[in-house]
Amino acid sequence: MTDTPLITADGLTVSYGAGVVLDDVSVTIAPGDLIGIVGPSGSGKSTLLKALLGDLEPTSGTVTRRPDVHVGLVPQVERIDWNFPVTVSECIGMARARGLRTPWITKAERGEIAAVLDRLGLHGLGDRHIRDLSGGQQQRVFIARAVFSGAKVLFLDEPTSGLDVTTRHEVLHLLRDLNADGFTIVLSTHDLNGIATHLPIIVCLNKSVIGAGDPDSVLTPDVLERTYGSPMQVL
Ligand code: ADP
Ligand code: MG
Repeated sequence: MTDTPLITADGLTVSYGAGVVLDDVSVTIAPGDLIGIVGPSGSGKSTLLKALLGDLEPTSGTVTRRPDVHVGLVPQVERIDWNFPVTVSECIGMARARGLRTPWITKAERGEIAAVLDRLGLHGLGDRHIRDLSGGQQQRVFIARAVFSGAKVLFLDEPTSGLDVTTRHEVLHLLRDLNADGFTIVLSTHDLNGIATHLPIIVCLNKSVIGAGDPDSVLTPDVLERTYGSPMQVL
């Protein structure tokens, strides 16, 4: 049973007005996968994540999720407006907010948050304002938040954009560790040479799936050119 796919998209098509953004996309996410959705800006990566999450209604085709699947979304940190004073612990605690009558964070949860912070290399940063953290630390806070929510499937939209090479590799290692601990992970990235080539499964996307599988077999010059619209080199 455990090998039943967690999420399956079959013939997924999404159009906005006359513009087709995703065209007949089929992908399968199985337990334990670590998948990178790779393609240039505007190729439909974020739209595919939203459709897999169930946040948007496909124009045609289907998305099927196993009923026990709880996805934690890690948003694109670069695009968040940090003009509000939220601490790291508050941000993480909000993942389990139960309304105004219950405090955001119970005493027991405080301990859990501290453990999640330690696990994600954010020890001692709970009371800091998020806007005062580095880009890599902010990314970790949102991963911590998804983990604290209880999700076992993590979706990350462009988790390494705006990060320097060293921080990108730290995020990659963190995601690999979480994957080894049992998390199923799907991420999007426009940056082929940032982390995509280090992932076990990649899906090259440009409106439709141009190629999918392990990087060695997928990243041929032909697939890359059709994905990016121009010749690309794998470094
Ligand atoms: P990516 O994440 O790969 O950069 P997106 O999925 O964000 O690509 O967008 C794919 C295309 O769909 C882009 O041309 C974008 O402008 C368009 N698009 C995305 N969301 C909407 C929307 N809500 N309404 C209209 N067009 C959209
Ligand atoms: Mg995007």
